[in-house]
Amino acid sequence: MSQDIFVVIEHLRGQVAEVSYAMLAGARQLSKADNGEVVAVLLGHNAQGLAHDLAADRVIYVDHPALAEFTSDAYQIVLAGLIQEHSPRAVLFGHSSIGMDLASSLSAKLGIPVVNSCRTFTEDGKFVSQICGGKIMVEGALPAPAALATMIPGGYKTEQGQSAQTPPLTPASAAGLDNLRVAVKQYIEPDTSDVDISKETMLVSIGRGIQNKDNIELANELAQALGCALSASRPVVDQGWLPTTRLVGKSGKHVKPKIYLALGISGAPEHVEGMGESETIVAVNTDPNAPIFNIAKYGTTIDMFDLLPVLIDKVKQAK
Ligand SMILES: Cc1cc2nc3c(=O)[nH]c(=O)nc-3n(C[C@H](O)[C@H](O)[C@H](O)COP(=O)(O)OP(=O)(O)OC[C@H]3O[C@@H](n4cnc5c(N)ncnc54)[C@H](O)[C@@H]3O)c2cc1C
Repeated sequence: MSQDIFVVIEHLRGQVAEVSYAMLAGARQLSKADNGEVVAVLLGHNAQGLAHDLAADRVIYVDHPALAEFTSDAYQIVLAGLIQEHSPRAVLFGHSSIGMDLASSLSAKLGIPVVNSCRTFTEDGKFVSQICGGKIMVEGALPAPAALATMIPGGYKTEQGQSAQTPPLTPASAAGLDNLRVAVKQYIEPDTSDVDISKETMLVSIGRGIQNKDNIELANELAQALGCALSASRPVVDQGWLPTTRLVGKSGKHVKPKIYLALGISGAPEHVEGMGESETIVAVNTDPNAPIFNIAKYGTTIDMFDLLPVLIDKVKQAK
C-alpha cells in the first residue's frame, strides 16, 4: 500500500478537461496528510504531450490505440491493473459522466469505497463533499486504507493544478485490450451555428425561476441592452425554451465570462461545474439560502420580475 494520490486525467479532442487541474490541486492538499506523491494517470494514444502542464510529481502514461477515445471498457481494464499494482492511498476522478462511470464500476470491481461530489480536500486527509443539489456540505475522513473519490470543479482554480515544468513521465503497458466489447465509431461535433457562449465576456443566464417561455423576452432585452448573450440552466433547455447551445453546466458548455448574471438559478453542482470559474458572479434569487449565493460576489433576493424592467431602463439610460 502506498500513500500516493492518483489523479485520472480526463481529456477530450486533445485538451485536458479543467476538472483534471482541480483534481491535481485537491490531490496536492490530500497528499500532505501522509506525505504521498501526486501521480497523474494519463491514458490515451499519442497523448503524452497533454502531460506538459500537469502539477504532478510524476505521470504514469499508458499509450494504446484503444485508449485514443474514452470507453468505459478499456479504461476500466487499464485502471484496475494500475490500482492493483500500485495500491495508491486514493484515486481521484472527475464528477463527470466519465468519472462517475469509472469510479462506480472500479469500486464494485476492486471492493474500494467511493466518495462522490468532493469539492475540496484538507491537509489532514478529509474530504468536503457537496450533496443534495449543492445545499449541504459534508465533511468526513476519507475511507482507509484506500478510497476512490469523484471531484466537482469550483473548489480550486485551474492554475493551482498547472505547472510550468513538465513532470517526469513513466510509460506503463496496456494489457488485456485485445477483445474489447466497445469501440468508438464517430465523434459528433456540437452545433456551431449559434453563438458560442464559452467565448462571451458577459452572460445573462436564466434558470427555472424565469417560469415560462414568454418571460425569456425580458431577460433577452437585458442581454441586448448589455450587448451580451443569453445562456441558461438545464430546465430552461429541457423545456425547449432555448437551444442546447445555450446550456451552461456539466451537460452543456463551460463558460468563464468576466460577468455572469444568474437570474433565478439555484446553483446546483451540475450548473456550477460550467460557470464556477466566472470572474464575477452576480445572483438574483428570491431564496436567501440558494447555493448560488455561496459563489456569487454580488447578490440580491429581489424578485427578478421586479428588478429586470428597472435594470433594463438603467442600462439603456447609462448608454
Ligand atoms: C447528470 C446531470 C447533469 C446535469 N447537467 C446540468 C447542466 O449541464 N446544467 C444545469 O444547469 N443543470 C444540470 N443538471 C440539473 C441540475 O441538477 C439542476 O437540476 C439544475 O441546474 C437546476 O436548474 P435551476 O437552478 O434553473 O432550477 P432550480 O433549482 O429549480 O432553481 C430555480 C431558482 O429560481 C429561484 N426563483 C424562482 N422564482 C424567482 C424569481 N421570481 N426571482 C428570482 N429568483 C427566483 C428559486 O429560488 C430557485 O433557487 C444536471 C443534472 C444531472 C443529474
